[in-house]
Amino acid sequence: MDETEKKTEKGLAPAGRPSGRGFDILSDEQAEAMLTALSRYYSQPVMPIERYCKALETWADALADRTRRLTESLYPGIYDRVKEPFSAEADARSYAAWKLHEAEKKVDRNDGLPRSPRDQSLQELRAQEAFLGQIHFVFTQIRKSNLLNRLLYQGQKLRTRMCPVHQGRWSGCAWEALPCGCQNGAGANVTGWLLDEPEPATIPVPAASPMNTPEDRGPHE
Ligand SMILES: [Zn+2]
Repeated sequence: MDETEKKTEKGLAPAGRPSGRGFDILSDEQAEAMLTALSRYYSQPVMPIERYCKALETWADALADRTRRLTESLYPGIYDRVKEPFSAEADARSYAAWKLHEAEKKVDRNDGLPRSPRDQSLQELRAQEAFLGQIHFVFTQIRKSNLLNRLLYQGQKLRTRMCPVHQGRWSGCAWEALPCGCQNGAGANVTGWLLDEPEPATIPVPAASPMNTPEDRGPHE
């Protein structure tokens, strides 16, 4: 047994038994069993946050697929360039269908005149496209949100005391400690709000979570 194995053996409590740091879970099966037990205890699904985020993305993807199907039924050939890459004919069919799609976008479907079945389908498509745009916008805001990161990944509560300097506005990142005290943790995000209580230290923050990626920039709320 090498040094690493000794450490591992020493560091783990028996399955499901509390160790100094809480419960040690030794297998996926045991983790799933504990999630089931927690779900029963709370009378609601308990699962890693990654699964919730994935469910939202799956929902959005399903809506996008539905929109693509309707688009293709109204504009046959519009996706041919994707299905047949490097084909000049497919490229031409896609372009012609896309031109028609763009032209019909400009037609007023609410002019009070009787509408054909195609008009009704076009109106439905426009509504789906607008909805997808809204979802994309909201998802982007969620991914950028420092507030959501703090609430969901850092176990914080909504701060209620406004920073007198930054006046409740997320004000970028500052790696040196600012005297106002509204930063999140040691440096980085200047939240604009002061902590009401000390930040919890027990909830680990994943190194890279869906809401804590390096490209996250912009307003935090
Ligand atoms: Zn401040």
